[in-house]
Amino acid sequence: MKTIAILGSTGSIGTQCLQLAALHPDRFRVTALTANRNADLLFEQVRRFRPDFAGLVTPPEGLRVPEDLAFCRFAFGPEALRIAAAEVPADMVLVSIVGIAGLAGVLDALKAGRQVLLANKEALVTGGHLVTDLARRMGKPLLPVDSEHSAIFQCLQGAAGNRPVSLLLTASGGPFRTWPRERIDRATRAEALNHPNWSMGAKITVDSASMFNKALEIMEARWLFDMPAEKIRVLVHPQSIVHSAVEFADGAVLAQLGVPDMRVPIAYAMAYPERIATGGERLDLIRLASLTFEPEDPARFPSLRLARECLAAGGAACAVLNGANEAAVAAFLRDEIPFGAIFTLVEDALSALPGLPADSIEDIYEADRRAREAVAARMKGVQ
Ligand code: NAD
Ligand code: MG
Repeated sequence: MKTIAILGSTGSIGTQCLQLAALHPDRFRVTALTANRNADLLFEQVRRFRPDFAGLVTPPEGLRVPEDLAFCRFAFGPEALRIAAAEVPADMVLVSIVGIAGLAGVLDALKAGRQVLLANKEALVTGGHLVTDLARRMGKPLLPVDSEHSAIFQCLQGAAGNRPVSLLLTASGGPFRTWPRERIDRATRAEALNHPNWSMGAKITVDSASMFNKALEIMEARWLFDMPAEKIRVLVHPQSIVHSAVEFADGAVLAQLGVPDMRVPIAYAMAYPERIATGGERLDLIRLASLTFEPEDPARFPSLRLARECLAAGGAACAVLNGANEAAVAAFLRDEIPFGAIFTLVEDALSALPGLPADSIEDIYEADRRAREAVAARMKGVQ
């Protein structure tokens, strides 16, 4: 029996992790649950999974804990994350919070000696060196949940210590894969949220449409697998069946395939190194008939170039890209800017804030704050 704490239990990844825990009550016991503000769903989850602790970071005003949940300890406010990550006993902590808000939870869980199951890519994008150094020092390597990184991690299990010569990161291309740039620039919220293959939280869905998701994933792969950016290639693969691949010195390429279903990588991290049933559909290659691959298009999607430039620049450049993107996506989701402004706002923030350091978590938060400020200051100009 493994115990698990979930930071971000009400989201797309968090709820799928709970589905797996419900499917395997003999294997997993949930000890802590946290969310941002969705009290109704959190209380329902507490009723069902009976954790020792639950909390909300931004509780709604006048919130009262229902009487039947008196068995559970609750906390409301930012300390809820630290308690769930580090105080409540758990073998594993799934960090499925969205955005840089996940960074502190990852560091707290590692410091407490927990095994981190990492869905939150923004923690590695912004604080990759701090997170991976700490994981190494604690002897607790991160278990990736992001489907591409889980695929690479799964392929490496059969590598007998041979290092890959390159990583092939697949990308669905999102809903605007075939659109001309002028149409992408004017895309609506509904169009951006209409992902062809995956059902995910709003922020990552918009990131998939802009290809900033793949930009963040290049950074995530750089830290998870200690690979230089030039050895991480992006392949646009609209069917999302090949979840990623690794290439070795002899030219052999190992890939991981499956239907697009996040329960597979979540279950792999939860039960690692074992494989367990997920309740999902099985892959039928005959029905699928063909898998196709295309190169990335830097003219329509500048996101990948910006990621590589930030990795080459070092310092807090990746944190600036991330903070500017989070602010721009939030503004787009509030219908305050057109889709194309996401690209310009991120690029402008990067030009305005070169050379910031990232030696400590305070440096990273400062870079994030300044990137958001730069976006807010520029927004009036693009509205
Ligand atoms: P989501 O928006 O569906 O859920 C986010 C969760 O985090 C919710 O429980 C929410 O209450 C909580 N949360 C949000 N802001 C918070 C804050 N400031 N402090 C504390 N908690 C907060 O997001 P998601 O789609 O589940 O994605 C979660 C993470 O996993 C993201 O980093 C995303 O990039 C990554 N990821 C998601 C998928 C997917 O299929 N959804 C796939 C790969 C990677
Ligand atoms: Mg992914």
